[in-house]
Amino acid sequence: MVHSLATVVELVNTSPSTGGDEGLAGLAELQAFVESRQISGVSRLTARDLGQVRMVREAFHRVFTATDQPTAVRTLNALLSETRITPRLTEHDGHPLHVHYFAADAALAEHVAADCGVALAHLLVEGEAERLRTCAAPDCDRVFVDESRNRSRVYCDSRTCGNRMHVAAYRARRRA
Ligand SMILES: [Zn+2]
Ligand SMILES: [Zn+2]
Repeated sequence: MVHSLATVVELVNTSPSTGGDEGLAGLAELQAFVESRQISGVSRLTARDLGQVRMVREAFHRVFTATDQPTAVRTLNALLSETRITPRLTEHDGHPLHVHYFAADAALAEHVAADCGVALAHLLVEGEAERLRTCAAPDCDRVFVDESRNRSRVYCDSRTCGNRMHVAAYRARRRA
């Protein structure tokens, strides 16, 4: 679950709608994403995979940016309704026993929609929709899942956006 949430965050943040360049510009970038997220059982990628993954990515982004929980639920249900979900227990590549939700013959987009979709569904069921956040820095729209105990995280990455904002605030105070 934690792994799937990190995967969906990384996927959404490749989208140009989070403020940067297209992170999935071609098949090489898509392959790199598959490897960095250790997505198993993926066959040779095609342009069709790239198009489908980008569409799933935008659907997930809408879940993160939903203005309220009913909207997030509706958006996620729309994605899940087009996704085959077939849970099964597995142990592979040295990982401990865990559940895969994607159909055995799923293409990459359906694979990601199933596993990340189920992870987000559990998060919503637990009443944790507010943990799905967009960075508060003015020029950054990257998303993240707030794992902090008191649900107080506001920046996508405290080492970059957080630091940047603190420096800006410090300079503003010095000028005042
Ligand atoms: Zn696995
Ligand atoms: Zn940020």
